[in-house]
Amino acid sequence: MAKSNLKYCGLMKTISHWINGAVTNEKSERSGEVFNPATGKISGSVNFASTATVDMAVGVAATAFNEWRHSSLTKRTQVLFAFRELLHVNKEKIAALITAEHGKVLSDALGEVTRGLEVVEFACGIPHLLKGGFSEEVSTGVDVYSIRQPLGPVAIISPFNFPAMVPMWFFPIAIACGNTVIVKPSEKDPSAIMYVAELLKAAGLPDGVFNVVHGDKEAVDALLTHPGIKSVSFVGSTPIAKYVYETGTKSGKRVQALGGAKNHMVVLPDADLNLTADAAINAGFGSAGERCMAISVVVAVEPVADALIEKIKERMAKIKTGDGTQGADMGPLVTKVHRDKVASYVTAGEKEGATLVVDGRNVKVDGEGFWLGPTLFDNITTEMSIYKEEIFGPVLSIIRVKSYDQALKLVNDHQYGNGTAIFTNDGGAARRYQNEVEVGMVGINVPIPVPMAYFSFGGWKNSLFGDSHAHGTEGVHFFTRGKVITSRWLDPSHGGINLGFPQNT
Ligand code: NAD
Repeated sequence: MAKSNLKYCGLMKTISHWINGAVTNEKSERSGEVFNPATGKISGSVNFASTATVDMAVGVAATAFNEWRHSSLTKRTQVLFAFRELLHVNKEKIAALITAEHGKVLSDALGEVTRGLEVVEFACGIPHLLKGGFSEEVSTGVDVYSIRQPLGPVAIISPFNFPAMVPMWFFPIAIACGNTVIVKPSEKDPSAIMYVAELLKAAGLPDGVFNVVHGDKEAVDALLTHPGIKSVSFVGSTPIAKYVYETGTKSGKRVQALGGAKNHMVVLPDADLNLTADAAINAGFGSAGERCMAISVVVAVEPVADALIEKIKERMAKIKTGDGTQGADMGPLVTKVHRDKVASYVTAGEKEGATLVVDGRNVKVDGEGFWLGPTLFDNITTEMSIYKEEIFGPVLSIIRVKSYDQALKLVNDHQYGNGTAIFTNDGGAARRYQNEVEVGMVGINVPIPVPMAYFSFGGWKNSLFGDSHAHGTEGVHFFTRGKVITSRWLDPSHGGINLGFPQNT
């Protein structure tokens, strides 16, 4: 399939909503600025949806639902296969849009698109995934079977850190199940999803099945309380996730709200320290630490800390911070406000008594980008804000403990339970950890468990509100309702119209 030559390949001045298969050209009363974080310059302005705009989008999605829900499974998979091809062929363009507004380096942005694409591939199997159950003859002449049906228009509210992948955790499955969708992406990097919307249309998705409204709290609140919205899939920080869960469920909606994280990497004394140090660098500083699966705390079970820190320091010295389009290893932070917030945690850590081993505030990069270099703390304690709170930047902290039990207790006592990793050569220790740790996703000798489309993704504790994780079979369940049918068809011999069967005498 040829590369798509669609409108949203380059930077744009004004980014507006995508409703009913087209960009709206309404005048918006409120808007937000979009930056290129590597230059610090404004690259666009994004219209913020009012309650009326959200209402219009929901109306369009409701109308489209009446037809889309009856589209055959063959038709749905044909659209998804075509979309998968367009995504594949155009993934560099999507990655470029992500880097231009998020700042992550191009290879990271490409990785994000690939992860999203895998969910599309999973959703292509929807005919199999939607197969129901059947029990014949539960009573004489009576059969029982189950089917799963779509919900209606569903809302997806996504964070800035994965502007393409996080919406793709949800909408391919939602659409495959027969729902219609409204995405409210982050206002910080809204362009990638607009290009995805064009690709969906080019793949043959009927207008109105996939819609995008941009905005902030007003748009989110309108979606959360709109009677036409049947479910909400949210990903973002924990306070907003909790608010979205409470408000959405109070309005009678099905809600899955994935929140923040503080991921611990436990290093046992027998671990391979080169492998561990490489993993700490990748998981701590990849995407400038702006990942919900970033490692932010290394729990060093003594006597491992000194040797490990030396290896981490050596590797940190080689990380090139700079423009993600110019071959850097680590890009800028997403906005100046966020950069300053992360830097303020470094100041707080010093004040609270942690040992600042590498200070990323000293990084030198040309230009006015939102720079903060890789930062390393040692000797942090559980009372410090840099331990208790999610920093969401390139700040890695080492906490020293004396035993496996102490390490486990730390992880289990933390308010977040998104991801964790253990590094050890002892299979028995790793097996105990996977069993005992109160965290939703566990890596064993891997830096961080990446999302796998056919498994479900989600954390525990304050990292997720609601019962369903994202994608995989839980995604199919979330976007459908079960129905059980008990049926009795009288035997043809009963004496109905003559179908050529022997009649009752
Ligand atoms: P955020 O909570 O600020 O924003 C998320 C979404 O909520 C955005 O669309 C935003 O416009 C909207 N929003 C912001 N403030 C709101 C308010 N007061 N009322 C209603 N809606 C509001 O999160 P972010 O800064 O965009 O993303 C980073 C956060 O997302 C981190 O905490 C990270 O851990 C989390 N995250 C979690 C996962 C996961 O799988 N658990 C994945 C990615 C990101």
